[in-house]
Amino acid sequence: MRKLISWILLVVLFIFPTSFHLSAEEAYGKVYCRNTNCEGKIALTFDDGPHPRYTKEILAILEEYHVTATFFIIGVNAQNYPDDLQRIIKSGCEIGNHTYSHLPIKKLSAEALQNEIVQCEDTIYRLCGFRPRVFRPPEGMMNDALKGLLSQMEYHIVLWSIDTMDWALTPSSEIYRNVTGKIHSGDIILMHDYVSGGNTTCKALRLLIPELLARGYEFVTVSELIQGDHE
Ligand SMILES: [Zn+2]
Repeated sequence: MRKLISWILLVVLFIFPTSFHLSAEEAYGKVYCRNTNCEGKIALTFDDGPHPRYTKEILAILEEYHVTATFFIIGVNAQNYPDDLQRIIKSGCEIGNHTYSHLPIKKLSAEALQNEIVQCEDTIYRLCGFRPRVFRPPEGMMNDALKGLLSQMEYHIVLWSIDTMDWALTPSSEIYRNVTGKIHSGDIILMHDYVSGGNTTCKALRLLIPELLARGYEFVTVSELIQGDHE
């Protein structure tokens, strides 16, 4: 019986291959770490801001090299530093939802989790007039409840394929070595515009961006990077 079902499925797939492609709508709630179908493109992402010093500094570096990026912001920081949030928008970079107060997902009730996402989205909407469609969970923690919720709320879930470890204040030369040794088309690079106790991110960016540009990579936002992977 199982064999028969497999054969029927195979025949149906052969005859109607396109009918099994997901529509963009159905793909909400999908988790993206990279897009292997994305020749020459990479995405820088910065979590945990906006921050009054480092967001500005990072934006200045991006502008200097004419490259774009995505900022996964924490709602309470946007509330405290609205000018820096608006600075990100004006620069043409993308903004993503990183919850309102960066609490550990696993410890939250379903209701508290939803509030964390909605409150961050509403804060961005109130300050910038748009609702983000990309979400990154704090610490990259995922579970089925969160996936279901984000699918209902029409979010794409974005993790990363390269962790620069700037959150551990890794020296910039080491970040440079790690990233340039690993990078491929379609990679999503995790960095931070706020790290408690210091910052090695800005110095690392000044080393990384010119090298990656020289290798021919194009920097795009995560939404641009994952586009086409969910159609
Ligand atoms: Zn974070």
